[in-house]
Amino acid sequence: IYILGIESSCDDTSAAVIHNGKVLSNVVANQEVHAKYGGVVPELASRAHQQHIVPVVQQAIAQAGITKSDLRGIAFTRGPGLMGSLLVGTSFAKSLALGLNIPLLDVNHMQGHVLAHFIEEEGSKIPPFPFICLTISGGHTQIVKISNHFEMEVLGETIDDAVGEAFDKSAKILGLPYPGGPLIDKYAKEGNPKAFAFTQPKVGDLEFSFSGLKTQILYFVQKNVKENPNFIEENLVDICASIQHTIVEILMKKLKNTVKQTGIKHIAIAGGVSANSEIRKRLQLAEKHWGWTTYIPKFQYTTDNAAMIAIVGYLKYLNNDFADFSVSAKARLKVTE
Ligand code: ATP
Ligand code: FE
Repeated sequence: IYILGIESSCDDTSAAVIHNGKVLSNVVANQEVHAKYGGVVPELASRAHQQHIVPVVQQAIAQAGITKSDLRGIAFTRGPGLMGSLLVGTSFAKSLALGLNIPLLDVNHMQGHVLAHFIEEEGSKIPPFPFICLTISGGHTQIVKISNHFEMEVLGETIDDAVGEAFDKSAKILGLPYPGGPLIDKYAKEGNPKAFAFTQPKVGDLEFSFSGLKTQILYFVQKNVKENPNFIEENLVDICASIQHTIVEILMKKLKNTVKQTGIKHIAIAGGVSANSEIRKRLQLAEKHWGWTTYIPKFQYTTDNAAMIAIVGYLKYLNNDFADFSVSAKARLKVTE
């Protein structure tokens, strides 16, 4: 069964073809227009999706070595995301499905991040139910218990900023371009994680809060720059390593709390921040030290991509869970919806 997946929730236009559980193509067109604004500009994102969607879909189908008539379903991201961006993918998916006379499959983007773990690939480990997934992305930070492909429960989440925002906003304070998360990761490799200490937020055992950390970092940088205008340049790698260390410590602590509360030791991570080298390393160590079995997605399935949308579409297809053509994009959508 060939399924085409389309992802357009934020600033990446992506299309993928999967054959049963295997990915045949996964094309991602990044939008560079946003870098100079220090964040995603919704109107520009929507326009860029309109420009990219046809060539990206064509490329995904060509790379898969199939033709449109081989497709058995069209999966698309219904939400959550930017309305103007979601509309492009939604309308395109509907027209294509209608034109080909095949089923339409609506996909929840956050379920996509989690269920990317069900892509069958060499070297990939598929988690057994129930398992815990720490979803860490640009807009979400949540601990989800997955009892079945479509039976999920949020055990805890952030009460303010998402962890990706914490990375990106910290990077912005340091004068790094958007998105700064990968850059902090890169500089942190050369730095001392204990060089500077930041305090951790006091919230519930399974809750997160990152807005206080951001303010702390802002004051810390402002104060030091006042004393030494070259403070950032001279200490960049140490600052990055310290910020990253603080964030990863928080994430690991919350996972430990979750294992203690639920007794579940199958632990997955998902979302853009799961590309972070430190969290990946720490999770691997947890296998050795605490007896967890951990599931770390391949890099190409961490940040937004259509393969994760296609796999959810495929799972829904097997369930005969098709979308009605009256389905509409939804900017706010819970992972459990
Ligand atoms: P959501 O999925 O919540 O709607 P999103 O789709 O915008 O949000 P993703 O594409 O999943 O988010 O993730 C993007 C985020 O991941 C950005 O904040 C980016 O900085 C962060 N990120 C990517 N790579 C790394 C890395 N190596 N280290 C830290 N953060 C990273
Ligand atoms: Fe995402």
